[in-house]
Amino acid sequence: MPASMTPTGNLTDAPDNRDDDLVFVAEADQLSAADGMLVRAPLAPVATWRILVVDDDADVHSSTLFALKNVEMQGRALQFLHAYSAHEARALLEREADIAVVLLDVVMERPDAGLQLVRQIREELGMSRVRIILRTGQPGYAPELEAIRGYDINDYRTKSELTRTKLYTAVAAAIRSYQQLRVIDANCAGLEHILAAGTQLMAQHGVRDVAHGVLRQMATLLGQEPAGVLCVRDSGHARPDLLRVVAAAGEHGELEGGELNPQRHQALVAAAQRTLRERRGHDAAGWLSLHFPGKAGRDFAACIPFGRKLDDTERRLLDVFASMVTVGLENVELVTHLNQAAFHDQLTGLPNRTRVVELLDAVLDSAQRGLTTLALIDLDHFAETNDALGHHFGDLLLAAVGKRLRTRMKPDSAAGADASNTLEVARIGGDIFCVLGEAGVVQPAPIQALFREPFHIDGQDVQVSATLGLVRLSEHDGSGADALKDADIALKRAKSHQRAGHFYFSRSMGVEIRERVRMMHALRSGFQRGELFLAYQPQVDLATNGAFGAEALLRWRTEDGRLIGPDRFIPIAEYSGLIVDIGEWVLRQALAELVRLHAAGYRTFTMSVNVSQVQFRHPHFVDMLRRALDDTGAAAEYVELEITESMAMEDPALLVEKLAQVKRTGVSIAIDDFGTGFSSLSHLQRLQVDRLKIDRTFVTEITGSARGSSIAEMVIQLGRNLGLSVIAEGVEDERQAHILRSLGCPLAQGYLFSRPLTPEALVEWLGNQARIEAA
Ligand code: C2E
Ligand code: CA
Ligand code: CA
Repeated sequence: MPASMTPTGNLTDAPDNRDDDLVFVAEADQLSAADGMLVRAPLAPVATWRILVVDDDADVHSSTLFALKNVEMQGRALQFLHAYSAHEARALLEREADIAVVLLDVVMERPDAGLQLVRQIREELGMSRVRIILRTGQPGYAPELEAIRGYDINDYRTKSELTRTKLYTAVAAAIRSYQQLRVIDANCAGLEHILAAGTQLMAQHGVRDVAHGVLRQMATLLGQEPAGVLCVRDSGHARPDLLRVVAAAGEHGELEGGELNPQRHQALVAAAQRTLRERRGHDAAGWLSLHFPGKAGRDFAACIPFGRKLDDTERRLLDVFASMVTVGLENVELVTHLNQAAFHDQLTGLPNRTRVVELLDAVLDSAQRGLTTLALIDLDHFAETNDALGHHFGDLLLAAVGKRLRTRMKPDSAAGADASNTLEVARIGGDIFCVLGEAGVVQPAPIQALFREPFHIDGQDVQVSATLGLVRLSEHDGSGADALKDADIALKRAKSHQRAGHFYFSRSMGVEIRERVRMMHALRSGFQRGELFLAYQPQVDLATNGAFGAEALLRWRTEDGRLIGPDRFIPIAEYSGLIVDIGEWVLRQALAELVRLHAAGYRTFTMSVNVSQVQFRHPHFVDMLRRALDDTGAAAEYVELEITESMAMEDPALLVEKLAQVKRTGVSIAIDDFGTGFSSLSHLQRLQVDRLKIDRTFVTEITGSARGSSIAEMVIQLGRNLGLSVIAEGVEDERQAHILRSLGCPLAQGYLFSRPLTPEALVEWLGNQARIEAA
């Protein structure tokens, strides 16, 4: 067999065409236009037609070369590859690309070696484009017609049949069909490219980005460098002919954002105007244009420099592309609109809370985090302004504040024009604005300084101040939403201290808040599980030291046996509103205990119950009280409610009315912690209270200080003058009791007499007292 003597895959050039490389370079540049192949990128350029000759007879190889020498097809030379067995051919086909035609011997190492190779080419190697011409020496070995059809064989000839002319014709026909197949491939690739381009365009965020994408993609489709403009007619403008350049690329880059000058860019303007007028793309006078219909007459035209004629395929692909872009642009407009609505506050046009959380997440994820501060800005007394001057006025004020923040807050220019040096102003809700930016700029003083100048609204000057809560992101670990919460905590803290002030968030604040939230949940479930109980602290008559009543005090023993003091959990119960339920439960417990004590023979015994402000303010409080009295059967005249002095100071009109209702149930009122607030006398008189409770601090004071006249003394005087009963709480030692007695204080309560007791211990204590008296 000659095959063994010939180097595998020997490559010979067609005679007279050895300047292969030159051809390759020269043709590659003109290829896309000449061949109607729109997209070159996915395909390797074809410089020559590569023909593989497979035959175990060396003579056939040389006769084939001879027959096709000096031949050009479709402007290209032929290049030959040689294999001398099916096996060798297969190895070569796996290695080499772009083989256009295989001239294949049917009978080689085996009678069906050629047909086997065809099957391998089509099925195993998956090469569907390569054209195959079968040649056989023996007519008897003609393959079945089925096989020819099934394997996409171009031609089947006996070798004797193949004269030089016939071989030429057969190969030329094969090359033509190979080329057509490649054009189809190219078109498919072009379509795929367009689809991919469409997907990319959809991912762009604004019209401008899409416009840039369009210019880029058009250039790629046509195999040239990006250039040209995408413009829109400035509808609604005084000059409707004016063309605004949305995006520009390459040599036209500087036109972006400007207007097209009809004198300077005559051809370009003419192309764009014609495109917009006729609502379709053109290909004339050195410009290729596409038309993209937009909404409300806002059509777009893309014009790019283009020196040749478009072929049909290109035209069709560009049409597909244009409709794709139109859909893309519509989507972008829609998305932009949705974005605007989803991430911006309608009133001020500023980013909203959602957007701020996004921005914060991004900053926290970047190197900027160490340098960034978040500030919340709360307008002081905005609610009052809004109520007093109307909502419209309030809206105008908010818009004005937003505008001032946006225009006056500037990134640090001294730090250079660093793009990362940004500053965001947002409105995160109600009267709360937010500034996010460089720590050196986002500072309380400059922000508050912006509020020193009045705002002009509706012809009026309005002065507003603001309170700030700030978070240094360098000290923050957590999400953007957490950072906003922290800023809110700092803001609340700032507001509770003083208006027009500021507070930086510190870790301890966060821990405190989280601890509170944790406790709130624990308290709720603890209450349901019955972890709360009451202790009763006896109240005594200082003249006799005999008990006349008790104060009910709430206790919480948690699941793990810890005792938590009411000073810690009552504020949380108040804050969460849970105090309403807990308070009712306390009242009913205490009344039930009172009923038992009365039944046990302590018939004039009184019960004092603490009532918190939140509970007292509840609209159904008096009903609740009445029902509790009814249900337990407790005698109202032996029940006393303790309200704090600070509460007595709030909302006098409401309180007077409510206290009057309480009094009508027969229950009496004591003012707890008296002396710590600032009750005016006239006020006290109107409240119709029955008793003042001298706060423990003043009781402690009477022995601690050498001052002759103490607050305790004044309260006792006051009580006497107003005809009110007075009780001193927190009496711990005999000296205090002695002084109180000498000052004329009738009643007392404190560790000296007894600690708060369980109901059983109270009964026992009362029993002991009776024995002491009796003794
Ligand atoms: P308060 O009404 O001023 O209660 C008196 C507090 O002083 C009680 O603390 C009592 O145990 C404590 N105390 C009594 N005698 C002495 C003494 O001699 N020395 C000292 N150092 N302390 C004495 P407690 O029980 O921890 O209650 C603290 C506060 O919790 C109460 O202050 C009251 O404001 C609130 N509270 C307790 N129970 C309830 C309740 O059922 N409802 C509401 N709303 N508040 C309650
Ligand atoms: Ca009390
Ligand atoms: Ca008290």
